[in-house]
Amino acid sequence: MSLESNQIVLSMRPGNGSIEDCFSLESKSLPALQEGEIRVANQYISLDPYIRLRLNDAKSYMAPQPLNSVIESAAVGEIEASRHADFNTGDKVVGLGNWQSKYQGKPNGFRKVSTQHIPLTTYLGPLGMTGVTAWIGVKKIIKPLSGEQIIITAASGAVGSVAGQICKQLGAKVIGVAGGPEKCDYVTEVLGFDTCLDYKSSDFEASLDDALKGKGIDGVFENVGGKQLDLFMERMNPHARVALCGLISGGYNATPLPIANANTFLTSRITMKGFIVSDYLEDWPIALSDIASMISQEVITWRESIIEGLENCPRAFTEMLSGKNIGKNLVKITSI
Ligand code: NDP
Repeated sequence: MSLESNQIVLSMRPGNGSIEDCFSLESKSLPALQEGEIRVANQYISLDPYIRLRLNDAKSYMAPQPLNSVIESAAVGEIEASRHADFNTGDKVVGLGNWQSKYQGKPNGFRKVSTQHIPLTTYLGPLGMTGVTAWIGVKKIIKPLSGEQIIITAASGAVGSVAGQICKQLGAKVIGVAGGPEKCDYVTEVLGFDTCLDYKSSDFEASLDDALKGKGIDGVFENVGGKQLDLFMERMNPHARVALCGLISGGYNATPLPIANANTFLTSRITMKGFIVSDYLEDWPIALSDIASMISQEVITWRESIIEGLENCPRAFTEMLSGKNIGKNLVKITSI
C-alpha cells in the first residue's frame, strides 16, 4: 500500500494570468498513523466556486487558502486505515478530504455514509453541502408561496438545480437562468422548471419580461449577480426576497461587483440576505433528511460532470468557473 499522497497545492495567488497556473501537483510522504487518526483513500473530490474566493489574499468569510498547502475541499472516499474508535477500514466517508489522493489526520467533520441506496458522489451533491445550500436559501430565506414567481440563476448548476426543484415542490412558478440552449433544455426538460432563459442570448431581457407575464418577481435564488441581478431588481414585487448565495459573475476576484439601482430596495421593500451554508449547522440534519425524502420520492434529480484524474483538478476547476459544467462538478481520483 502506497504511503504517499499526491496533492494539488496553491503555488501562487491569482494575478493577471490563468487561474490554472496557480496550482501545482506534489507528492507528500505520509507518516505512521497516530492514535485517533484515520487514513482515507479519496475517490471523488468536490470542485466548488468558493475555492476561487479563497485563492485571494483578502478578507472574506473564510481565511485565505495558505500558499504551498493542499487545496481545502470536500471529498468522499473509503477508510484504508483507522486508529479511531468510530471509524473502521472500509467505511465510506465524506469530509474535508482536500484535493489529494489520501487524507490522513483526525476525522474532524468527517461522517460515515451509506452507499446501499445511493451513490457515494451524492454526498458531495444534493446530500451534501450543495444540497443544504439550496435548501437553506429556499426554505429559510425565500420561503416561496404557492404560485409565486421565483428566479433561479446558474439554474443548471449544482446548487441552482436543487434549489429550483425544491421551489417547484412548494408550488412556485420557477424561472431558471442558464448559459446556452443545452443547459436551458436540461433545466426545463429534466429538472422540470417552468421555463429557462438563456442569459447569453441577445434577447435575454425581452425573454425575461415574456416569462414574467407582467406579474413581477417574488423571490430570487441568486448565484450570479451583476447584470442579471440588476434586471431582476427592476422587476421585483413588493416584499420580494433575495437569497444571495453567490456572485460568480464577478469572478470572485478583487474587483467590487456593484448593484445598479439601490432605490429598488426601498421602493419594493426588498429583503436581500447573504448567507453562508456553514452558518446554519443546526439546520443541516433537517435539510439532509428533507432532501433524502425528496430523492426517495424521485422529485429531485441531478447530474454530475466528472473529470478523471487528480492532476486535472486545476483545469476542471477553471472550466467550471467559465461555465463548462452541468450539475455538480467532481474529479474522480485515478492512480497517477
Ligand atoms: P455551479 O455548478 O452552478 O457552477 C458554476 C456555474 O456558474 C457555471 O456552470 C456557470 O453556469 C455559472 N457562471 C459562471 N460564470 C458566470 C457568469 N459570468 N455569469 C453567469 N453565470 C456564470 O456551481 P455551484 O452550484 O457549486 O455554486 C453556485 C453558486 O453558489 C456559486 O456562486 C457559489 O459561489 C455559490 N455557493 C454558495 C454557498 C454559500 O454557502 N453561500 C455554498 C455553495 C455555493 P452558466 O453556464 O449557466 O453561466
